[in-house]
Amino acid sequence: MTKTAVITGSTSGIGLAIAKSFAKTGANIVLNGFGTADEIRMVTDEVASLGAGAVLHHPADMTKPAEIADLMATATARFGGTDILVNNAGVQFVEKIEDFPVEQWDRIIAINLSSSFHTIQAAIPAMKEKGWGRIVNIASAHGLVASPFKSAYVAAKHGIMGLTKTVALEVAENGITVNSICPGYVLTPLVEKQIPDQARTRGITEEQVINEVMLKGQPTKKFITVEQVASLALYLASDDAAQITGTHVSMDGGWTAQ
Ligand code: NAD
Repeated sequence: MTKTAVITGSTSGIGLAIAKSFAKTGANIVLNGFGTADEIRMVTDEVASLGAGAVLHHPADMTKPAEIADLMATATARFGGTDILVNNAGVQFVEKIEDFPVEQWDRIIAINLSSSFHTIQAAIPAMKEKGWGRIVNIASAHGLVASPFKSAYVAAKHGIMGLTKTVALEVAENGITVNSICPGYVLTPLVEKQIPDQARTRGITEEQVINEVMLKGQPTKKFITVEQVASLALYLASDDAAQITGTHVSMDGGWTAQ
């Protein structure tokens, strides 16, 4: 039977790569995330061209529980439920704790943590009924270790690790697995754009930005690619991964081994 995958924050970066990899398996794809009408049409067409079943985009804002409920209800109305849920939408804000804006704290906790509570809560009943389900949460190396000035992000990513373990225990006998992926620095369009900017503001070369700033803590000194993360998500959603649950898989070039 055709599987249905809902991927939050899938109009860009890691989420889009995951949507594309699931599309190649013939799954129905529910895209979500921001973009202009043209960008969303382009992304939807691209994902559909890869052999997906049906593809739709839902514009739910992950800070808004009612819109998240509508996203999940749409997947149920169109496809009879969500078989594979990838909680990927995430944002960042960097500031020292005493100056960290309250509204940025609330926004990051809402998007990077609470949205996954809402999507998971909505997805579980149909998964239980089918006796099969896969939930993959895109956490971060920051779900395991901290960096200064990222209090909300690190707190949210540690939180998603706890949510992953708890839900995994609750649904362990229902054929549903719940896991996190903890990437290090991934080369997404967002990161790519920062390289020339940082080189200019710091007065150093782009190579120095990559090696001495961005990849300082990543021993392989190489970025992770979005395709590598997508390939791991695909594996965690497979039947072969049925006994991997309540845990995380790091893909961080050795970052958290230090
Ligand atoms: P990105 O900025 O390329 O993509 C983020 C996606 O989320 C976009 O589709 C955007 O439209 C969507 N989004 C943002 N706010 C939203 C909201 N309120 N409601 C709905 N959608 C929203 O980012 P990315 O680098 O691909 O990151 C994806 C995930 O991977 C995030 O959870 C991030 O924390 C995690 N991650 C990224 C890296 C990295 O180095 N890029 C490393 C570790 C973890």
